[in-house]
Amino acid sequence: MQTNNRRQLVAGNWKMNGDKTLVKQMQQSLAEASLDNMDVVICPPFPYLELFANTVKLGSQNISQFDSGAHTGEVSVAMLKEFNCHYVIVGHSERRADNNESDAVVALKVEQGLKANLTPILCVGEPEDVRENGTLFDYIAAQLDAVLQQVGIQQFAKMVLAYEPIWAIGTGKTASPTQAQEVHAFIRGYLAKQDTNIAANIVILYGGSVKGSNAQELFSQADVDGGLIGGASLNPEDFLSICQAANQ
Ligand code: PEP
Repeated sequence: MQTNNRRQLVAGNWKMNGDKTLVKQMQQSLAEASLDNMDVVICPPFPYLELFANTVKLGSQNISQFDSGAHTGEVSVAMLKEFNCHYVIVGHSERRADNNESDAVVALKVEQGLKANLTPILCVGEPEDVRENGTLFDYIAAQLDAVLQQVGIQQFAKMVLAYEPIWAIGTGKTASPTQAQEVHAFIRGYLAKQDTNIAANIVILYGGSVKGSNAQELFSQADVDGGLIGGASLNPEDFLSICQAANQ
């Protein structure tokens, strides 16, 4: 078996939630924790990025695929760099659905993030009907192919992936550890066809209704390297218990 240097990572995606009070509570809770064996990233809404400055690793929930200019409402990678952002979530299913972000746009955003030395957290995952009709792996492969064609396999060494089955996001319906492991192993195997070393070392997060009570079993799967956490990242106590599951 190929050796690897993967470290568990837990990223909290606040979506359009939270306030200044939650920023303070989360900072306090993480400052008191001892989480030496894993990495934590918080992806708050843009206005709260600066409030977190120098206290946690930061990610944004989106970036523009453009450098600058007449793109009202968009935020560029250069701006995020000024606010000490290290990660960016790209291709979250909510953005794919709410903002019509196609695989092609997602690929451009990944490229833009990489160009600025941000680490893209590229989300892939299937709707329920795709899982039911047996085309799950083709669906995930197509999402990966769009990015592979745009940036090439070597750039995956600078990325994180997140498998987020759409039917499990915010629904309370978690993929079982076996279901998660099956897809994570598929993703790693798919990348290994192009580069075994990059495939062995890329961090693949699971996202979809992760809680303190199910995190440990999910994260102990061979190809699951932590989680992308939505709802539970809004409660410092819950989020910390998920981080502690990854720290073991
Ligand atoms: C997410 O939005 O990325 C997510 C996984 O949400 P939740 O944990 O609430 O299912």
